[in-house]
Amino acid sequence: MKPVLALVGRPNVGKSTLFNRITKSRDAIVADFAGLTRDRHYGNAKQGRIEFIVIDTGGFEPTAESGIYMEMAKQTRQAVAEADVVVFVVDARGGLSAQDHDIAKYLRKLGKPTVLAANKAEGMTEGIQFSEFYELGLGEIHPVSAAHGQGVRSLVEEAFATL
Ligand code: GDP
Ligand code: MG
Repeated sequence: MKPVLALVGRPNVGKSTLFNRITKSRDAIVADFAGLTRDRHYGNAKQGRIEFIVIDTGGFEPTAESGIYMEMAKQTRQAVAEADVVVFVVDARGGLSAQDHDIAKYLRKLGKPTVLAANKAEGMTEGIQFSEFYELGLGEIHPVSAAHGQGVRSLVEEAFATL
């Protein structure tokens, strides 16, 4: 069985762009409309000798109680349950939100191997600009640019190093 990596995070942080980058496909729906990917979406990926499955998810609303948001939260929980490792994506430019804190709390409680990716980090300098993300209590921050492909290989390496 191939290991499974799940991408989670609030809408619009760049999960689908990262999915496309990792799978080298244009399959996932990328858009400026928040929360467009409402279902889980599976792709095959290979990096070096490791072959794995990537799951893209819709936005995560852990407290959602109805409608589409509840469905997205359910899909995300299922993706996380299926995953061997979780990549939690936040927006390096947008900064932390209450939703990020909710997701982090959920992932910490679950205790599944998780790596934290600060996306949209192109042109940003490491260090001080990312320090707020340590508040999430998920350890190291991996700056990436899904759009430009920066940091993505090492993110995947780090993710599988946790297994
Ligand atoms: P999702 O809702 O988390 O799946 O986010 P999408 O992948 O659909 O991306 C949301 C928006 O962020 C789109 O306009 C993307 O073009 C943009 N985006 C994604 N990755 C990056 C990145 O690395 N840098 C920048 N500047 N924008 C990005
Ligand atoms: Mg998406």
